[in-house]
Amino acid sequence: MPNKETILGVNVSRETYDSLKQQLFTNINEKRQSFIVAVNPEKIMKAYRDPALRELINTADYQIPDGVGVLIASKLQGGSISNRITGIDLMMELVQEAVVQEKSIFLYGAKPGVAETASKELMREYPNLKLAGVMNGYVKDNAEIIDAINQSNADILFVAMGSPRQEEWIRENRTKLNVSIFQGVGGSFDVLAGNIKRAPALFRKTGLEWLYRLLAEPWRWKRQLALPKFLMKVIKEKK
Ligand code: UDP
Repeated sequence: MPNKETILGVNVSRETYDSLKQQLFTNINEKRQSFIVAVNPEKIMKAYRDPALRELINTADYQIPDGVGVLIASKLQGGSISNRITGIDLMMELVQEAVVQEKSIFLYGAKPGVAETASKELMREYPNLKLAGVMNGYVKDNAEIIDAINQSNADILFVAMGSPRQEEWIRENRTKLNVSIFQGVGGSFDVLAGNIKRAPALFRKTGLEWLYRLLAEPWRWKRQLALPKFLMKVIKEKK
């Protein structure tokens, strides 16, 4: 049963890290595919204006609330999404569980060398991790990509090509792949490889990543105006 609510026409899952992890690994064992997309206020606003994007996001099996703005919107409309699930944190949870349940992962995306470095970091932290393979996100021949992933027998595929490119690719190719879990993870390989820094833990735990960004990169303030606009829209639509 889908456990979701809709914000400006976009589905958002009500799962927690634990409930989601449990369903995903059951799906692996029962050979069911799961497609996970992260949604934040920026993406919801884009999807609100763009029906094709909305449809793409809504065809995923799980839309995780990546951003405190999504929780505020849920509260404003009387919903019950109360915890964030960020793309990179979910990825790390899945990696840890993959080690426990002996499932394998494949990293596809980012510039040449990045997925490799990211995988080395993961292997350093989890020496028993079953790494099925890596591939950069700039290979032109799609058949080559499909073959490499299928031959690797990966259970979990992380796709890091930015949104919505990664989601389009997953939707287009999921039926050709013998993978169970597909997660679009944006710039996460760059973060794991150490090319991009995340906000310090204090900011992350308190949901203040946006404040850290604003302090670190003040020129982004314009982009941050998207959040109050988004919340106003949610309030207006409620009426
Ligand atoms: N990327 C890719 N193939 C492409 C275009 C982009 O693999 O054809 C990668 C790029 O190298 C970067 C990631 O996609 O690692 C983009 O991440 P970004 O932070 O822009 O994504 P977001 O999280 O904002 O969706």
